[in-house]
Amino acid sequence: MDQGLKGEVIGNLLLTEVGHGLDIMRLETTATKTHDGFILHTSHPRAAKIMPPTTPIPGFSKVAAVMAKLIVDGEARGIHPFLVPISDERGMRPGITSRRLPPRSGSSPVDFAITSFHEVHLPSYAFVGLSYDKPENAQSLLHKYLWRIGLGTATLPIHVINGIGIIATIGADYSYRRHVQGKGDSSVTIMSFRTQQLPILRAIASAHVFKAWWPRIVRCMMDMDVDPRIKHGVGVVFKATVGRMTAILAREVGERLGAQGLFGHNFVAQIENDTRGMNIAEGDIVVLSIRLFSELLLERYTLPTPDHDSSLLARHWLHIFAKYMSVLSSLPGGHRDARFNSLILPRSEAALIALGQAYAYAAALDAGVPQPLIDIFQLHALQADEGWYIENAGWTQALIVEGEDKAIQDALPHITGYVDLLDLRKHFTVPIRSDETWDAWILKLKTHSHGSDERNSTPIVAAPNTLSLKPSARL
Ligand SMILES: Cc1cc2nc3c(=O)[nH]c(=O)nc-3n(C[C@H](O)[C@H](O)[C@H](O)COP(=O)(O)OP(=O)(O)OC[C@H]3O[C@@H](n4cnc5c(N)ncnc54)[C@H](O)[C@@H]3O)c2cc1C
Repeated sequence: MDQGLKGEVIGNLLLTEVGHGLDIMRLETTATKTHDGFILHTSHPRAAKIMPPTTPIPGFSKVAAVMAKLIVDGEARGIHPFLVPISDERGMRPGITSRRLPPRSGSSPVDFAITSFHEVHLPSYAFVGLSYDKPENAQSLLHKYLWRIGLGTATLPIHVINGIGIIATIGADYSYRRHVQGKGDSSVTIMSFRTQQLPILRAIASAHVFKAWWPRIVRCMMDMDVDPRIKHGVGVVFKATVGRMTAILAREVGERLGAQGLFGHNFVAQIENDTRGMNIAEGDIVVLSIRLFSELLLERYTLPTPDHDSSLLARHWLHIFAKYMSVLSSLPGGHRDARFNSLILPRSEAALIALGQAYAYAAALDAGVPQPLIDIFQLHALQADEGWYIENAGWTQALIVEGEDKAIQDALPHITGYVDLLDLRKHFTVPIRSDETWDAWILKLKTHSHGSDERNSTPIVAAPNTLSLKPSARL
């Protein structure tokens, strides 16, 4: 643990198998008890662990908590964690194979791998589970071990909040830099177009509102008096809201950067792909939402009502919840009814995002986020379920368009100030940020010209070569 905390060893959790992802109860890696320890074994190729980055890194050791089915005297005794050294400075440990997966499309580079064990002998102290006894309920035992995943669920979105802030910053900086022919001879920045302002201001607003929300999540996670199920539920709502909204806004802002938005070195596409990975890792948001929303409807526990509970977004959530409670009570078979699958499960994620938006909105009000940004966030949320607001809250499509126009007009003079407040520029740079960064970056590109395949000694653009570019920041 000490070495891990100092960053001297890299730790992994090996849970997911090639043949069993979310369906973790069916995992097939075995740890068979012997007189002096265990034999860890991948029974067939689909029982190999997938994703955790186990390939050796020179200078570092890697260890893993491997989730495996304990076999004692031929009897399966539940799934337990085993602490296993995976690689050291000399390479992989005996009996362990790591096959490095090809790079993920467009995301930050991580050595994701497929890992298998061939009759690896483990000492008895490798067992870090609770007991060798056959568990009364194998599923609840596994969930007892995996409660920490809930912390991952709640903390991963914090990186994504930085991501949406970076996207907003890049989108705004580029849109003020890029000029096109305006009316007459004059040129105008592309920021003058509402089609540019809308996604960029939504990204700026979301970054500020989520930033106001995240300390509440941290406080909830650290509060020893909060029921772990509620902590997990709050984490799921946070993840679904931040992850889904950011993935959508990343694509919208990325498209508004033209071809530049497609390149990983300009970050927006990379952040979108990293966010999509986050939406799956530490719990897939669709499946987490299905489970949480079902448990809330079954009244197994309740999540806190959003502060400012008379706000539009809070009323929306409360109404949605009441509506699906009544759908559930109309089903003869309750949550086991086939119609639960068709009527409620597909609505789970959107319902919980509605709750998350109400939480985030309340946090932003209390934190003093500038009103135009709060209004833009609220109107963006509202448009995800426009019909409800028209049917139940006295809105019309015309009012929504007018409200949005006013919020954008109020925000426009302050865009640069709002981006400065995010204070993220010092952490990264991208070629499209300014003429200087672009000119310096282009000099570093491999160049082909007549008679030579070497770097062209004559720069394509005359530029001061003094700007040092930071290496790609990792989120
Ligand atoms: C970036 C990243 C890092 C990861 N790191 C790790 C790690 O360190 N350790 C580790 O063990 N794993 C890791 N994983 C794996 C991750 O936990 C799994 O990808 C995840 O559990 C989903 O499993 P799967 O990909 O096999 O999808 P599947 O289980 O095949 O699911 C595919 C889709 O089927 C649907 N589905 C499946 N089950 C249900 C259900 N019950 N109800 C409704 N729909 C369902 C959902 O739409 C789901 O998205 C990582 C994944 C990513 C993307």
